Amino acid sequence: MNTTIDNVPDLVPSLIGGSWKVSSTDTHNKVYNPAKGEVISKTPMGTAKDVEDAVEAAEKAFPSWSETPAPKRADILYRYRALLETHFEDLSKLIALENGKTLAEARGDMRRGFEVVEFACGIAHLSKGESLGQIAENIDGLTIREPLGVCAGISPFNFPAMVPMWMFPMAIACGNTFVLKPSEKVPLTVVHLAELFQEAGLPEGVLNIVHGGKEIVDTLCTHPRIAAISFVGSSHIAKYVYSLGTKHGKRVQAGGAAKNVLLVLPDAEPDSTLRAIMGSAFGCAGQRCMAGSLLMGVGEIADSLRDNVVGAMDSLKVGNPLAEEDTEMGPVIDGNSQKRITKIIDKAVKDGTKLVRDGRPNTKDKGFFVGPTLFEQVTPSMSVFSKEIFGPVLSMLNPKSIEEAVGWLNSLNYGNGATIFTSSGASARQFTRSIKCGMVGVNVGVPAPMSLFPFSGWNDSFYGDLHMQGIEGVMFYTRQKVVLSRWDNTYQGKSGW
Ligand code: NAD
Repeated sequence: MNTTIDNVPDLVPSLIGGSWKVSSTDTHNKVYNPAKGEVISKTPMGTAKDVEDAVEAAEKAFPSWSETPAPKRADILYRYRALLETHFEDLSKLIALENGKTLAEARGDMRRGFEVVEFACGIAHLSKGESLGQIAENIDGLTIREPLGVCAGISPFNFPAMVPMWMFPMAIACGNTFVLKPSEKVPLTVVHLAELFQEAGLPEGVLNIVHGGKEIVDTLCTHPRIAAISFVGSSHIAKYVYSLGTKHGKRVQAGGAAKNVLLVLPDAEPDSTLRAIMGSAFGCAGQRCMAGSLLMGVGEIADSLRDNVVGAMDSLKVGNPLAEEDTEMGPVIDGNSQKRITKIIDKAVKDGTKLVRDGRPNTKDKGFFVGPTLFEQVTPSMSVFSKEIFGPVLSMLNPKSIEEAVGWLNSLNYGNGATIFTSSGASARQFTRSIKCGMVGVNVGVPAPMSLFPFSGWNDSFYGDLHMQGIEGVMFYTRQKVVLSRWDNTYQGKSGW
């Protein structure tokens, strides 16, 4: 099988113990091409039985996979990396088809996931422990990192490749076996990613895929033979998964929602700052957990900043990414999302928030489009300030100083990203040190870390201790054994030499 935009299955298959099969459930979720509003496939909303089968297969594969030497596991990852490179465009197009991203954004989604595989190729080095000879008289100490067992991953719709790839390549590189439940809205990219991993030589049962929603998630979080859960999605589900999983004795890392700020000082370089603002606020139609959704121009620059942003918004090309390659912004994921965002804009207008550009959809459009939307003179008491909208809606505020801006930002419940645009190192340092969030940008519109660093959300943007990516990812998917050995004179000669 090779799932591409020209070969989309009617029903999305699951991967259990190395074989592709369709769940026997009779409930399905429609998978759309959001740019056209057309149904392209259906996701089976699987049951606890699907999870049982997947866990059994993963458990069966664990002894041999966990005993496979790390350099041999890395051999498969190197082959996987090469196949991902060969199929990079196919995968990017599949992302654009089922998610509605532009091709450039879809390639970015793939690139970031690809980098995790590259990082995981170094697993032999990454999972090395520590040692100290002669920690006491004739005693040496060392630590060994061992895999946990069967791990599970649950991912959101907005990054069909990158977010699942924060999870399964690292977990598998560390010697675990894995059950992945992708978003029921974008299940196809994951199918193709798994097909290529099989082609790279991954033994059967090491990666399993199940499809569905709450029933699958609940079964994974409570399953006695699952050791760890990685989750990414909205904060209320992240919190739910964290508490359910930990209550059932699992290690859990759960990324949640966000409200990210772009703070512009009068000394910022105007052109690159404008490009970064546009990419951050309207890239992926605002459906990024690192999207800048609050724009603050400090002091006297507020009006000119608004005029520049409005000019760029008015020339932003919104369209169907696969039909027109020069599309700069695609649709939102589905009709529900389109309605939800529209309602948020309706309510904000009703509450007196000043609307500068209105992207509320024209009902004649078949695709799930919301145009770029701008509010100004927003204050911290307004709902558009504190709630994640997850659409192409930017809210402008006008703080008098960095201190006032930081005070407002630190009152938010979330803690993913914040960026300052300035040419002053001192201002950047002041901002970086005083802001209470986990990922900070200086003149970078989307300060999402690459695979070498942790994706470091704080507050309601993350529940758990060890984040995804980087060394924290290796730590999450392994546990340490400490070995103390005493070899003194009394043992000499015992074996006859
Ligand atoms: P979502 O929370 O609706 O879904 C995420 C996953 O949870 C899906 O696999 C879904 O099937 C499952 N799920 C949905 N409802 C459930 C329920 N009631 N019980 C159990 N499981 C359930 O999120 P989404 O709409 O797919 O994704 C968007 C959200 O993800 C945004 O809030 C965004 O900020 C967040 N996100 C966060 C990060 C991060 O790293 N912090 C990254 C990407 C996206």
